[in-house]
This record gives sequence, structure tokens and C-alpha cells, in this order.
Amino acid sequence: MSRRPHGTPGRPGRLDALGARVSAARAATEARGETFYQGPSRVHLASFPPRERWDDWVELSSRAWPAADERHYMLVPTTCFNCESACGLLAYVDRQTGTVRKFEGNPEHPGSRGRNCAKGPATINQVTDPDRILYPMKRAGQRGSGQWERITWDEALDALATRIRAAITEDRRNEIMVHIGRPGEDGYTERVLASWGVDGHNSHTNVCSSGGRTGFQFWMGIDRPSPDHEYAKVIYLISAHLESGHYFNPHAQRITQARANGAKVIVLDTRLSNTATHADYWLSPQPGSEAAINLAIANHLIQAGRYDREFVRQWWNWADYLAVCHPGRPQTFEHFEEVLAGLYTEFTFDYAAAESGIDAATLAEVADVVTGAGTRFASHCWRSAAAGNLGGWQVSRTLFLISALLGAVATEGGTFPNAWNKFVPRPIHVPPHPHVWQDLSWPPEYPLAQNEMSFLLPHFLTEGRGRLDTYFIRVYNPVWTNPDGLSWMEALTDESKVGCFVALTPTWSESAYFADYVLPMGHGPERHDTHSYEQYNGQWIGFRQPVLRAARERLGEQITDSRQVNPGEVWEENEFWIELSWRIDPDGSLGIRQYHESRSRPGEKLTVDEYYGWMFEHSVPGLPERAAAEGRTPLQWMRRYGAFEISAGIGAAHRQPVPASELEDITVTATGRVYSAAAAPPDPNIVPVGSPEPDADGRRPVGVQVDGAVLRGFPTPSGRLEFWSSTLAAWGWPEHALPGYIKSHVHPDRLAPDQVVLLSTFRLPTQIHTRSANAKWLDELAHTNPVWIHPSDAARFGIAATGGLVRVETEIGYFVAKAWLTEGIRPGVVACSHHMGRWRLDGGPRAAGAMAATVGLHRGPDGWRMERLAPVRPYVSADPDTQRFWWSDTGVHQNLTFPVHPDPISGMHCWHQAVRVRPAGPADAHGDIAVDTAAAREVYRRWRALTRPAGQVTPDGTRRPQWLMRPLKPAPDAFRLPRERAR
Ligand code: SF4
Repeated sequence: MSRRPHGTPGRPGRLDALGARVSAARAATEARGETFYQGPSRVHLASFPPRERWDDWVELSSRAWPAADERHYMLVPTTCFNCESACGLLAYVDRQTGTVRKFEGNPEHPGSRGRNCAKGPATINQVTDPDRILYPMKRAGQRGSGQWERITWDEALDALATRIRAAITEDRRNEIMVHIGRPGEDGYTERVLASWGVDGHNSHTNVCSSGGRTGFQFWMGIDRPSPDHEYAKVIYLISAHLESGHYFNPHAQRITQARANGAKVIVLDTRLSNTATHADYWLSPQPGSEAAINLAIANHLIQAGRYDREFVRQWWNWADYLAVCHPGRPQTFEHFEEVLAGLYTEFTFDYAAAESGIDAATLAEVADVVTGAGTRFASHCWRSAAAGNLGGWQVSRTLFLISALLGAVATEGGTFPNAWNKFVPRPIHVPPHPHVWQDLSWPPEYPLAQNEMSFLLPHFLTEGRGRLDTYFIRVYNPVWTNPDGLSWMEALTDESKVGCFVALTPTWSESAYFADYVLPMGHGPERHDTHSYEQYNGQWIGFRQPVLRAARERLGEQITDSRQVNPGEVWEENEFWIELSWRIDPDGSLGIRQYHESRSRPGEKLTVDEYYGWMFEHSVPGLPERAAAEGRTPLQWMRRYGAFEISAGIGAAHRQPVPASELEDITVTATGRVYSAAAAPPDPNIVPVGSPEPDADGRRPVGVQVDGAVLRGFPTPSGRLEFWSSTLAAWGWPEHALPGYIKSHVHPDRLAPDQVVLLSTFRLPTQIHTRSANAKWLDELAHTNPVWIHPSDAARFGIAATGGLVRVETEIGYFVAKAWLTEGIRPGVVACSHHMGRWRLDGGPRAAGAMAATVGLHRGPDGWRMERLAPVRPYVSADPDTQRFWWSDTGVHQNLTFPVHPDPISGMHCWHQAVRVRPAGPADAHGDIAVDTAAAREVYRRWRALTRPAGQVTPDGTRRPQWLMRPLKPAPDAFRLPRERAR
């Protein structure tokens, strides 16, 4: 692939016309004597302030109009923290008042290119939110009683440091856990825990994207796709990706650009989402049938001989497959093709039509469009079907089968492994991997789980598998976000299970109510982070920073602690972790402090300036030179512009030849995997890719032989794309080692006649889980989550009209919500967005005043009941807008009524529910919830029984294949099963 600059028109037609228009605009602009502005987007962005004027940008005050009241601003970059896309923002810091007036897009950001969704500018609401937490708080009564007292940071730090130090010195390291929702950064927290010698990282990923990741990981050794949407001919999305998908705005703008260039968009989404409305082909499948559709398309490619034979021959691990599954037969590619031709013959269009409810002719037409894409086939599957169904991980695995058949892997307009379009710089200190294993997060039943089994934590604690002495949450609201939230509440209020519960959070939440300490952390413009995400065929790094700190430093002030510029005593986590680590190990005797010390001032505390300054100076190629060209240090450059593009046009990294220097003392397996004594071990704390295991003599895999050359290949056991997963075969699941179709737990065969499927996972473009509820503009745009019901179903259920109350009954309880009758959902399926239904306990602190209703929560002999005591109402606060709230319906918290459904392979919570929908009874009220947590435990046990535990299936005495990705990967000795370690 050519390494042309990103965004440069690469083909004739519309882009040439665009280029001509840009040239004309440049000429016209320069003729007027003005500067033509060309940011990373390579197009004229006249609406963005040129960076030369970021120290004194002038706008007229809209409120003073028609008077021309000039306002002077410093423009300071940071990064949005309202979803995982990490788009660039520019803070408009008023030079007169020293406050932030607004946030708009940063045109210097290569991923977002100056654009944002509604949630980006709404960051100003979060910063000025009258309900935010400004001071450290400690509970003053029983957990959950709503009584709090303000304390100092010193009191909080000393109390926590004392507990954590005791747990470490008493060898109770597994009693420390940091549970993260949205990380928003690459690896800082993992390294803090590694420095403590603790395997305490927990995540939200198994309630989010694990299903999607698993399918990609078994193929590529890398768990995320990076579609090159902008140059695709066909874009195939299994989700509402265009409006709310993974890398929402950065991807949406590139999909939109591709559409303008003639690309076809195919969307599989049971709902008529805003994405579906923009599709050339909208397929509304029966939930869980998506893999069958993918396989029908794959079968079409195979039977028609329209796959890329050369790509398959070179890059699939067909030889491993034949050797194990077809021994005694010819071990040739030609024979593999014969086998391949027979593997998917049952997946005809008629079969897929019967499973999906989409007619066979439409599927055949879509297959022809896919076939015509060639190597310009960009595809994505993330949450959606992969997160909804038992076996949902096969949705992404079968999707990638189509890409792999087309040879559309790491091609222009194709799909890349994400690690090639992402850059994680090495930090100043890299602590060693911990030698402990946390069974509460990585239990033996789920050896192949993609991520921590986080949502089962209350059940594991109840079973006595362990206890937590100190449990942190950050950007995470487990009671509200997870299924089975009342089991969470039961566990978190039991001090024998959780000794000390600490919420690191900018805002009150359903979980923070039950904490012992609530410690205020900054929003996106009040904290430091670095991050890099796969958004196009290139690599960039972004820098989130406290914008008032950067602004005041521009004016010559020296800021040494983010609390000096943040509101109240709001802090940032990086400085908090450094300080806490010093207090855990004040004299350095535990070996912890060394990882939080300055290099330039030995024996003194590391500062964030030194941490990021060192990283930008030593670990980001090209940045020091770019900064020097402007007479700045790399840190100054990043503080000024906020993001740096490291490279564009990465291309097919798997085809890179392995240098001779890495090919000393090699061995080569029968199917071409090359191991070398000269290969450096990958550091999974630095580079987020799989790390295939060394051979018996300790040589590490370095590449793969392809037609006589040693090429870099993929980080899988075979070095190739794994059509057949040796890992699934060896770890107890040989029947699922090939891309296949697993019938969902909500397959029609498994539903009772009066049950329908509830889709409960979809996002709205203007909300995001917990954080956005504290943004009044977003709340005004979207604040309800009615149940989507097809009119034919409504007639069947006896629901007369939109707005009528319905009772939706799950396996463990029910919720009462409003109905929305719409033909935008297929019959037999209902849908409800997961954003809404925020609540606060009566008597507790006010949280998200625009979105959280006041509720009563009671436990009776048959379980829990929640009823709404008061809706959202206008109220008096420092913000006059809180008196203007005109809405009162803020939806229903449906997740409380869902039991856990852990997929036995990926570990993903399978969100879809089989439900009964009835008209609400006379005693039912909107927002009512009933839950039986004893029934929830029964459902948990039933799903757990589907597993094949490591102790039964391990081929080598380990708990988990070491090559699989894992955040904060422990040292190899910790992978041994306890009985093996005892030998
Ligand atoms: S897509 Fe929207 S919410 Fe997400 S980072 Fe970008 S601006 Fe923020």
C-alpha cells in the first residue's frame, strides 16, 4: 500500500472535484490577504480558529448583540471524555475572567479533525454542573444512609494508604481491586497496580465489547478491528455504528465521506436506528441470527469462487487445520479448498432467511454487493449482536471470515488489526508484572474469557471465593450499569464482603451512594491522560489536560497540582495515584515508591509534567523534532496542540520482512512459524497485542514463513490468521474452533409462545451511560426510554397506544415503562435504550438533577421493590437553567431486572432478554421495578454450568492461554493452576 498522507485524494472522480474546490478556496482566501487554514484534515476549515491565533482569539458576545462586545479567548486543547472516541476539544478560556466559556472541536486532532458530536460541546455542562462533587467525602452513617461528612484529602489518603499497605504486607494482595468503567487512557492505572504487585485491575469490558473482541482475537491475535471506512467501497456494519458506534464521530465522518464517494453501506440492526436510515441496505434480522447471515455470504463467496485465493493460501492457517483435523489427507492448499467448499454448504440464503426473517433474495443481493467490494470491504461489529447473544462472539468471527475471504485485511478501504492503527508510548517507569492471580476477576470456569468476569463479582463474593479489603471504582457505576444491580447493592453494603468502598468520581451515582469514601476527580478538561485509538489507517496520540492549568502556564504561572486550577478540591487520578503510592510506601522499603519517583530529582516525587514530558521526549517518534521546529519542548507542543499524528498510511504490517538481526538461532515449525532467540519479549503492559508463547527452548515467535520469506505475520500461535483456532480446540471447545453459528439463548426455538426478545443495549447518540446525565443540554435532547413495540405485537398484547404503560417481565422481576408503538422494530422483538432510568435514593445527595428521579427502595419476603417517589422537577441552584427543566419523565432503569448471562467462552454478558410484555395493572406505576435476587442467583448458576473450567480442559496446567490478551498480565508463574504451582 502506498504511504500517502492521510486524506490525500487517492482516486479520480469526486475527490478530484473536491481538490479543485479546495484549490479555488485557497486562491480566493489568499487573494483576500487572509491565511488559508489547513489542519490535519487537509481541507479548508475556515470555521476553525487558525492555530496561530490561539493565544488571542476574538469573538463577539452573542448576548451583547447588536452591540459589538469583543471577547478575547485563549484556546487550549484537551480531549473529550464522554465516550471512548477521545475526540479533540478546544477550551475557550476567557482572558478576562480566566474561566472556560465553551468547548468546540480541535482541528489539529487527526482522529476527529475538528468535529464533535453533541456530547463534546456539552462538556461545559459537566464542568459547571451544580450537582457535582467538589470535596472529599466520607460516610457518616450506615452505608447507603445518605449521611456524609467532608474530609481533607490527607485524611482520605492516609486512611487508604494504611489499609492498602497492610493488605500488601500481610500478603492479602488480592483484596485490593480497582474497577474501571471507561478507562479513557492507555495503561496508567494498570501500571500503578503493577507497582503495588497487585493483580487488581477489573474492567467493564465483559458487559460491553468482549463478545465482539473475542471473535477478532481468535482470528488476528488482536481484539479490535480498524476499518478504513473512508476508502471503502462497501461498508458492512453490525450495529448502529454511524450514530453511536465505537469511535462514533471519527468513524461517522469517514463513513459519511465514503458514502459521498459512492460507497454502499449495509447495516444489520433489528431496530430502525439512525444508522439504518442512512443505509443502502438495512437488514432487520431476528436477534441472534447475524452469524447465519454472515455465513451465507461467506458460503456465497466460496461457492462462487469469488474469494481471494492467494490471500487465503498465504495468510490463513489452513495447514494447521488440515494437519489436526484432516490428517492422512493431502496436506495441500488445493485439498483445503475442497474441504472449505463443503464446510458451509448448509448456510444457503434460504437457511439464513429462515433464521433471520429476511428474504433470501435480499440476502443474495447483499452478498453480491459484498462480493463486488473486493479488498475495499470495511466492516465493524462491536457491541450489538456480539454483546446480546449466547455465542455472540461468533458474529464478529464470521464477519471477519468475510473480510478474510475477500483479502480485505490491512488494505486500503479494508479492515486493519487495531494495534497497527494505535500507538501506546513507553512510560518513564515500567514495573514488573505481578506474581499473583485474581480469581475474583479471572475465575477458573472462564479460561478463555476475553476480559475480567466483572459482572459476576457479587456472586463470587457471596460464594465466599474471596473478599475485598479496599475496592475502588472509577468512571464506573456498577449498581446502575451492570445487570443484576441489586445483587451488586447487596454485596457492596455488606462490610464482610467489601471492607472499604471508594468511589473516584466527579458526580454522585447509584453506586457512590453506598461508598465509604467519595473522592472528587476531574472531568475531561480537568485531568491528564494520553490515549490513541484506531480511527483510520494511521497512528496518533492525544493528550487530555487540565485546560486552566495550561492556560495559566501560558501566562507565566507555575502550576504544580491540578487542584490549584480545578473547582473546589477536585483532583486528577494520576496525581492521586502518585501521592497514594508514596503514602503506601513512604520509605521505599516495599519497592513501590521507585515507580513514582522523579528521574531528574532522585528521591523526590514524580510530577505529571515529568511523566508526560519524558514520554513525549523519548517514546513518541517524530514529536521531539516537530516540537523543536517550533522552538518548543515536546510537552509544550502537546499542551499547545493536544494531539500528534505519528504516521499515516500504515499499510499491511503483516507483510513486512523480519530483519536479519532478529533471525538468529531460529527454529521453524512444519507450518512455518518462526521462533528466534533474538526476539525481544513483547511487553503486554506497553503494547496491547497478544503475545504468542515461546517454544520449548524459550525462543520467541518472530514471524512466519510465507513462500520462503520470513514476514512479520500476526500475533497468533500460528503467525497467520486463524481460520481454525488451535486455542479453542485445545481448551475444550473443538466444536467451535471454526467460524460458526451458535444459536442464541433468545433463539425463537427457545422462546415460549408468549415471549418476545428484548433488545436492551442500544445507545442514543446524545447520551452515554452514567456521565452524560450531568449535562443539561443532552438531558433536554434525550431523557426517556420508552419500549419500542411493533403495532402488531401491541395489538397482540392488548396495548392500545403509544404512552400506555407496559409491564416487561424478565426471569427475575419486571419493570414498568411507557410503550412506543413503531414499525421501526421487527414483530416479535421489543427494544429499550439502556441510558435512562437514573435514580437517587430519597434523602441522599442530589445526583444529576436533570435526570435522576427520587425513588424508594424496599426489600420484602419476595424480593426488592423500587417505586418512584418524585420525578425530576425544576429546582433552584447556582445554574438558573435548573429552574427551566420542563421534562419529568426520565425513563426506567431496566438493567436492575436482568440476571447475569455469562457466555461460557467469551465471558461476555449476553444482554438480550426473553420477556413477556403486558399492559400494566392498576397498581403499577411508571418506573416501578421488582427484582428477586434469589432467582438471579439461580440464573447465574444455570449459566455457570455451561462452562468448561480450566482445571478440566487445560492442556498445559495453566489457567489461561498466555498468548491471549489480558490487561495487566501477571508474570508467567501466576498462570500455573494452583495444583501445578504446588508441584
Ligand atoms: S464522539 Fe462525541 S462523545 Fe465521543 S469523544 Fe467524540 S465528541 Fe466526545
